[in-house]
Amino acid sequence: MNRTPLVAGNWKMHKTIAEAEEYIQALLPRVSDVDGVEVGICPSYLSLQPLVDSTRGSRVAIYAQNMHEAEHGAYTGEVSAPMLVEVDVHGVVLGHSERRQYFGETDRALAAKVPAALAAGLQPILCVGETEDEREAGDTERKLRHQVQEALARAPDDRIPDVVIAYEPIWAIGTGIVATPDQAQEAIAFVRALVAGRWPEQSERVRILYGGSVKPEGAGDLIAQPDIDGFLVGGASLDPEAFAAIVRAAVPAP
Ligand code: PEP
Repeated sequence: MNRTPLVAGNWKMHKTIAEAEEYIQALLPRVSDVDGVEVGICPSYLSLQPLVDSTRGSRVAIYAQNMHEAEHGAYTGEVSAPMLVEVDVHGVVLGHSERRQYFGETDRALAAKVPAALAAGLQPILCVGETEDEREAGDTERKLRHQVQEALARAPDDRIPDVVIAYEPIWAIGTGIVATPDQAQEAIAFVRALVAGRWPEQSERVRILYGGSVKPEGAGDLIAQPDIDGFLVGGASLDPEAFAAIVRAAVPAP
């Protein structure tokens, strides 16, 4: 099955609107001739509308970093799917480990967020991954099974191929330690098998990304693995040159 790679840059809480605009003007020419890869940028909420406007007609799609599961309500500080749709963003990152760790994001909330995003027409990038302790205790598969099954439990069967899953081992996020290609492939193949367990006909269409200290060097060895369909990139996505190099590394061989 040919799955189009996706390389998405998660800026976290970096870049003002002015800095975001400057970055996009540097990135666009660097990826304009890159074929066969989808490119995403996940800026702060405040930069969504400006970047949607300045990337219109380009190959760069804009994603939010989070959203609330309800359409509206008394949830101070939150943003809903209809609000993201109104500014024309392409998708939304859900369940990033920093949201889980610092802001109490639960698998239960994700079970509502994934179908809410799909129903609104947003592409969810669902993040899953184990801690270092869980890996050392041999609990990686148990953790991934729990996260994937819970978060996808209420997603409509026919929309499963629209969900992107990002396998992001927490020990690799922002640490400079990258999973080896074998480690990433093994975990991602396991995630695909989990999806196949419930949706046998859809699992080959679901894109599963690797995330965790991805740099331009090393990206080629990761993407060469049969189940790795692209990257969710944090730190290295803050530099347009490095991010464009990772995008180029994901171009499928002719
Ligand atoms: C991330 O935040 O999703 C991420 C993978 O970060 P980094 O690339 O910096 O490890």
